[in-house]
Amino acid sequence: MNFESLAKPSVLTQPVYEPGKPIEYVARELGLDPAGIIKLASNENPFGPSPLALAAAKQALEHGELYPDGGCFALRQKLAAVRGLGADQFVIGNGSNEIIELLGHAFVGAGDEVVMGAPAFVVYKLVTLLFGARAVEVPLRDWRHDLPAIAAAITPRTKLVYVCTPNNPTGTANTEAELIAFIEALPDHVIAIVDEAYAEYVENAPDLRPLIRAGRKVVCLRTFSKIYGLASLRIGYGYAAADLCALLNRVRQPFNVNAIAQAAALAALDDHAFAERCARENRAGLRQIEDGCRRLGLAFVPSVANFMLIRVGDGNRVFDAMQRSGVIVRPVKSYGLPEWVRVTVGTREQNERLLATLAAALT
Ligand SMILES: *Cc1c(COP(=O)(O)O)cnc(C)c1O
Repeated sequence: MNFESLAKPSVLTQPVYEPGKPIEYVARELGLDPAGIIKLASNENPFGPSPLALAAAKQALEHGELYPDGGCFALRQKLAAVRGLGADQFVIGNGSNEIIELLGHAFVGAGDEVVMGAPAFVVYKLVTLLFGARAVEVPLRDWRHDLPAIAAAITPRTKLVYVCTPNNPTGTANTEAELIAFIEALPDHVIAIVDEAYAEYVENAPDLRPLIRAGRKVVCLRTFSKIYGLASLRIGYGYAAADLCALLNRVRQPFNVNAIAQAAALAALDDHAFAERCARENRAGLRQIEDGCRRLGLAFVPSVANFMLIRVGDGNRVFDAMQRSGVIVRPVKSYGLPEWVRVTVGTREQNERLLATLAAALT
C-alpha cells in the first residue's frame, strides 16, 4: 500500500510548518520536570489569558452542545463598535492563520505570484505553495520590509502582497506613512495584506482604516493569540472592504470559529486593563533583554514586538543548550538566520532566567 502514489504531487513537495516545541514534549524528551520549563519560543503571552476572556470562555462551555454562530455576529458587532468600521468589514478566522488560508482559497491559484518579505512569517509562503502559486521573496533591508523593492517585484501575475509589521521574526516595523504610500501606489490587480499580529504592543501603531474606508485593496490581520493570551482557542480576524470580506466568508467552513473562542474574544476586547498591562510589561521586558544582551556583548535587533532576535553564534547549539536547562527559545536557521535565536519576552523573572541561561549556554 502506497498512499504517496495516490496523493496530489504538490502535497509531496509541500514544506511543513515547524512549531515551537510544547513544554510537555520537551519535558518528555529530556527527562525534565514540566513545571520547571519555560517556553519563550512562540510569542505567547507570559501573563496567561485575559481574565475577562477566561471567565467568558468558562461560561460559554456550559452550552457546549450547541453549534457556534458561524457568522460570529456578536463579535463582529463588537469589533465594529470598538474599531469604527462596519460589522460587514470584518471576517473572523480560526486564528488569523486561517484568514491567510482563506485569502489563498479566494485569490491564489497555479501560475499566480504572491510577493512577501524574507525573512517574514513563514505561513505566507506555505499557503502560497499549497495553492500552487509562486512565492516571490524580497529580502529585508536593515531588518525591515523594503517596500520599494517589494513594489518593484510586482508583476501582472501578482495576486497578493504580504507585509508583516511588526515583522516576525525580526520585531521591526514600517511606518504608517510608508505603508500608506506603498498601498496607494499598488496596481489595481493586487491586494495588500498587512499582518498586524503584534500591533497592540506598539505605541501609535499604523492605522490603515482610512484606506479601507476609501475602498483600497488592503486586508489587515489581527489576532487574539498574542496580547489577549488566547493562542490555544484559535481566533483572529481580518478587516477590509465589505466585498472582500464577503468573498472570504464564502470559502470558509460554516462553523470555522468555535463558540468558546468567540465568547472569549468578545470579552477580551473589554479587558483594557489587561491589554495595557501586557503592553507596558512587554516594553519593560524588551529593555531588560536589551540590557542583558549588551552586558553579554551580544548583538540584537531592536524590536517593538513581544520577541527579539539575538545573535548567539551557533543558533541551533545555543537553542539545544538552553533547552536542556529548561528554557525553550526558537532557533531561526529555517528563516535563513543560523547565527540567531528568537526569544519571546516573558515576565521579569522569566527574562532574568532567560538571560542567565543564555549566558551559561554561550560558554
Ligand atoms: C502569531 C502570529 C499570528 C497569529 O496567528 P493566529 O493564527 O492568530 O494564532 C499571525 N501572524 C504572525 C506574523 C504571527 O507571528
